Amino acid sequence: MARSHNFNPGPAALPLAVLEEVQQELVDYAGNGLSVLEMSHRSPAFMAIYEKTEATLRSVLGIPENYDVLFLSGGATLEFAAVAMNLMRTGRAGYVASGHFSSVAMREGAKYGEAICLASSEESDYAHIPAVADVEAAIAREAEQGLDYVHICQNNTIYGTMWHELPDTGDVPLVADVSSCFLSLPLDVERYGVIYAGAQKNAGPAGVTVVICRHDLIAEGPALSICPSYLDWRRQTMQQSMLNTPNTFGIYVCGKVFQWVKDMGGLEAMEARNRKKAAMLYDVIDHSELFRGVASVQDRSIANVTFTTNIPELDREFVSEAADAGLIGLGGHRLVGGMRASIYNAVPKASVERLCGLMKEFEELHAGTSATE
Ligand SMILES: *Cc1c(COP(=O)(O)O)cnc(C)c1O
Repeated sequence: MARSHNFNPGPAALPLAVLEEVQQELVDYAGNGLSVLEMSHRSPAFMAIYEKTEATLRSVLGIPENYDVLFLSGGATLEFAAVAMNLMRTGRAGYVASGHFSSVAMREGAKYGEAICLASSEESDYAHIPAVADVEAAIAREAEQGLDYVHICQNNTIYGTMWHELPDTGDVPLVADVSSCFLSLPLDVERYGVIYAGAQKNAGPAGVTVVICRHDLIAEGPALSICPSYLDWRRQTMQQSMLNTPNTFGIYVCGKVFQWVKDMGGLEAMEARNRKKAAMLYDVIDHSELFRGVASVQDRSIANVTFTTNIPELDREFVSEAADAGLIGLGGHRLVGGMRASIYNAVPKASVERLCGLMKEFEELHAGTSATE
């Protein structure tokens, strides 16, 4: 069996051990005589899977009792709307535009109320995260007129930047799209009002969205009466994410990934591994005459490493040579070009070593063709 070195941004690499367990249980789950794919979501066997999945996530992430956990569908994209419809009580919320998804979230929020742009890094093509002090000053200014929440995207998957320090939002709940850094490192859940993530980056297969919300924020039901029942977090909480048929198989696989994270030593261990992998790549980039990093050094992501030669044909050649060598998913997002190595939890250090080696070989071969300023 030849498994690729998988640098896909999402859907992305899953731990081999999880895939093998799923394979083993696929036809007959735990002696039930049927597959998880064929089970009723209301059956005791599936409810046990659901409850274990939630309990494992709670223990891995340290989610306090007063936070609800949901496993929904529709991706982070549908939650952009859900955030606004559940939380926009005064009709005014703050957004930080630090990349593509945070800007999409802001535009989605603007459909349901006033979406104030607190800070943006668009003028640098989102190469950096807006300064925390500027964000905090904007929050202080805008909060006087009322802010229902402050929304950030904690790791900008496309640009390769991440928040290394969270803004202090005072009494205003912080809402974070953590899709591409969920389970990459510990999060202090109590710093947030709501955390949400599409599972396909780091937590499981596509089709599951994890939403973690502080209970008091949703206790009265959604802020907007037009909120579709499906997106009503309170109702979903009361029904254990089963207002309708959930993504049963996806939830089951997420549960296995959560358990894998736990068995591997939890989020501290994940963070240490991810930092080591990222440091290896940034070290090659920083010592290269050919490759340069795309993101500002102080805001570099530990999950998505963006780099380029500044010569589009050469970038394409690198991506294609890498693919020939079994390293896949390295093409940058179409908005940025260049290369992006997504090095989520399930990407082994050996794959990153292989990539570093390939970059050095490629540089030797193309010495002298540098366009680096
Ligand atoms: C991938 C991604 C999204 C989009 O997720 P979907 O699950 O496809 O809706 C949103 N935000 C971030 C940070 C992402 O990485």
